Amino acid sequence: MGDRWALSHEAGSTCAICQRVVSSSPYCKYHAIALQSLRDGYSKWKSAYPEISWERYLDSVLKLEVTGQWTVEVARNKIRSKKAMNKLNSTERTQK
Ligand SMILES: [Zn+2]
Repeated sequence: MGDRWALSHEAGSTCAICQRVVSSSPYCKYHAIALQSLRDGYSKWKSAYPEISWERYLDSVLKLEVTGQWTVEVARNKIRSKKAMNKLNSTERTQK
């Protein structure tokens, strides 16, 4: 009976967004595909607007009505984790 727990723990990383169980990437296949299309889109935007940042791009994508649900979730997740990291950095700085 303990074995089942151990097994699910080993398999057990889940998608950073939807909690589906994943094997090797931080995202499930749906969100991995969405992330890939975000990255592809970013390189296209880059050629039109060379100065655009990844965050700015994600922001703009979120405002587009054509953006699919999976992509929106990935973009939101990326923005959130970026903000969390900024917060962490500033906390570190104030502590020192
Ligand atoms: Zn997912």
